[in-house]
Amino acid sequence: MENNKIKIVFATGNSHKLQEINEISKGSGIEFILPPTDFSPDETGSTFEQNSYIKAKEAALISNCIALADDSGLCVEALNGGPGIHSARYAQTPQARIDKLLNNLTDVANRKAKFVCAMTLVDEFGNILCQETGECHGEISKSQSGINGFGYDPIFLVDGYGVTMADMSEDLKNSVSHRSIALNKVISYIQSSLFL
Ligand code: IMP
Repeated sequence: MENNKIKIVFATGNSHKLQEINEISKGSGIEFILPPTDFSPDETGSTFEQNSYIKAKEAALISNCIALADDSGLCVEALNGGPGIHSARYAQTPQARIDKLLNNLTDVANRKAKFVCAMTLVDEFGNILCQETGECHGEISKSQSGINGFGYDPIFLVDGYGVTMADMSEDLKNSVSHRSIALNKVISYIQSSLFL
């Protein structure tokens, strides 16, 4: 069965993300794999969509096959949408990024935030086949909680659940996350348009 899966390059250096998207796409007939060589394109875009396209195109050109990339981040209302596309570089380490965000929101009443994920699927020449986005709404907690997931998960309280993403099981996170919303749309596109 494994061997019959369609393999699509997923442009990331983040093994946690790769594991997450393969978990989300379980049962779809698609397996996402890393590009054959390391790559780190400059994310010079000013939107999640633009940066996901830059990564997907580069991955397709070095792999010579269809590639998918995502660009994602946390947008906090009180920070005018920041850190947004700069989420991965907001501070040096994952813990430093959490500490900085909590510090910046000390005494701030409006803690509304959303995770955003843009995904771009390109052909082997870098032409866009499909581009989708997903959002997950919530708010920034006062202190961190939970050990699952990655990044800002320990301080992101998901609307309607009352727990942080890091308190959620992998399955629960994957049923509500920005990445799963975007990826499920891409999977529908692949299944209806390409090979399956
Ligand atoms: P990217 O790899 O350029 O898309 O960077 C996304 C950054 O946003 C990550 O390094 C995390 O800091 C944050 N981020 C994106 N998605 C998530 C998530 O699902 N949970 C927690 N943090 C996330």
